[in-house]
Amino acid sequence: MLKILFIADVIGSPGRDVVQALLPGLRSRHGLDLVVCNGENAAAGFGLTRDTAKALIDAGVDVLTGGNHIWDKRDSIDYLRSEPRLVRPANLPPGVPGEGWRVFPGIDGTPIGVINLLGRVFMKEADCPFRTVDRAIEDLRARGARAILLDFHAETTAEKVAMGWHVDGRVSAVLGTHTHVATADARVLPQGTAFQCDAGMTGGFESVIGMDRHAALRRFLTGLPERLSPAGGDLRMNAVLVEVDPATGRAASIRSLELLHDRAAAPTTGGGLARILSGDEAAAAVRARAQVRVAALRSLGVTPVLALVSVGEDPASRIYLGRKSAAGAEAGIDVRRIELPAGTTTDAVVERVRALGADPSVHGILVQLPLAPPADAQAVLEAIRPEKDVDGFHPLNAGRLAQGLPALAPATPSGILELLRHHQIPLAGRHAVVIGRSNIVGRPLATLLSHKGVDMTVTLGHSASGPALRSLAREADLLVAAMGRPEAITADWVKPGATVVDVGIHRVSDPSAKSGSRLTGDVDAASVARVAGALSPVPGGVGPMTVAMVVVNTVNAAERLAAAATPAAR
Ligand code: NAP
Repeated sequence: MLKILFIADVIGSPGRDVVQALLPGLRSRHGLDLVVCNGENAAAGFGLTRDTAKALIDAGVDVLTGGNHIWDKRDSIDYLRSEPRLVRPANLPPGVPGEGWRVFPGIDGTPIGVINLLGRVFMKEADCPFRTVDRAIEDLRARGARAILLDFHAETTAEKVAMGWHVDGRVSAVLGTHTHVATADARVLPQGTAFQCDAGMTGGFESVIGMDRHAALRRFLTGLPERLSPAGGDLRMNAVLVEVDPATGRAASIRSLELLHDRAAAPTTGGGLARILSGDEAAAAVRARAQVRVAALRSLGVTPVLALVSVGEDPASRIYLGRKSAAGAEAGIDVRRIELPAGTTTDAVVERVRALGADPSVHGILVQLPLAPPADAQAVLEAIRPEKDVDGFHPLNAGRLAQGLPALAPATPSGILELLRHHQIPLAGRHAVVIGRSNIVGRPLATLLSHKGVDMTVTLGHSASGPALRSLAREADLLVAAMGRPEAITADWVKPGATVVDVGIHRVSDPSAKSGSRLTGDVDAASVARVAGALSPVPGGVGPMTVAMVVVNTVNAAERLAAAATPAAR
């Protein structure tokens, strides 16, 4: 099989840095036959120059493709005319420098065709890309190329999808560029053409499609012209890996990659590989669905109410309660804070929690741990009415969960499952190793992962597992670190390509950070990202999912209680 890597639009020097850091590792790891890279924004965000092209070629790029910005640096036109590794848009008028399709040799000499085309919808005028591609394919085939990659630089989804169908079976891969946001539609079409509507971008993701977000936002807010420059924060590479049968030119597989570039780790290691399992994105989707259900309840006259109970002034708890309040309010839930002073007795807390249980206007009760002494957490948790136990810590809910019966499941484990589902991580039949057996995270997660329907084979590790745990972890397709030990899971615990979920959250001192400290998890992300296939970040991974699932549990509880209530009780 030919392995062709396509690197999505490289944006300025941050994008070039990412390619330089990650591509050498990718080349050797995947045994790539050809690396094609869209370079039309590689020079300060607009155009391609001799120097920027050289930087990409030196990093391991074999072919550069273009787009509507390829001519933005007017001084470079002579260079673009003579660069044999450049394929510029093919559907331009006669007389434009360069070539719109070319043949390149793969590592073993197999001829591989590369075509670049512009779309016509909402873009500057260009010749018809559909008729142009027909000519290009015919010519490339006549020159012996069976494997052909098309970079279709276009604005609209419809035009790109239509192109996919137009060339299905005649081109090995159609990869869209231009919009800079990777689409989640990578697939192989019926006749063997790998397709992805947009491959995304390579550069700073703390940005508006690669450019400084502050300047871009000002342009939208004021309508005034403003110079845009490439953004430098949260550096990533979007790329697409396509496997092609050299005999037929048909694609066997397509894989969309989002690779993190850890600047600190890159110079010595070649950078990270793992796909980032963003919890922010997944949690937003969960909360949006909850919002719709809350609106439906409100239209029936039911306002979901969540009571958040705390005892004492734990600073971390204050932050968590603030997040849960905000997420509940955003979804349309009425959040009530019950803040009891440190020193409140167990009996007094229990009485308060029981009263909330009996109050028909309250649907969810969450007691934020830890409780200030002398209140006893276990006694308080057992006083929560199980139907309102939105943290799922009551023994009745834990027991029902263990038996696979409907239950309010703890928010962190159910959030992890939702995170994995959102990012389409395959679970059934795979092996999970969960490290940590607390009733809050590890044990209920092991239960959920082994449920019918999820169908993982689960190993549950703990502090008495001994050295065997590391070798068990190295066999895991899914490794979950919930041990409460900062950066304890290093790369040697991880099977190459495995999915790693980092539950831990710790503030550790870091003299290089402005504040003198930074947040980290139970996973040493810098080393693990170079081995794992996917990794949940800290912060921004499991944390937002936990908050979102408290909202979901409150909605679940409100729906069940409303259904069971008499009209008078509503
Ligand atoms: P926990 O109650 O302290 O439990 C830790 C578990 O890890 C225990 O089962 C312990 O084993 C095991 N363990 C400790 N050291 C180990 C080692 N060296 N090797 C193997 N196992 C070890 O912690 P937790 O409440 O489950 O929380 C775990 C982490 O997740 C913490 O960092 C916490 O802050 C974080 N957390 C995050 C979220 C979130 O939303 N992001 C939510 C909850 C928790 P034993 O049982 O043998 O002691």
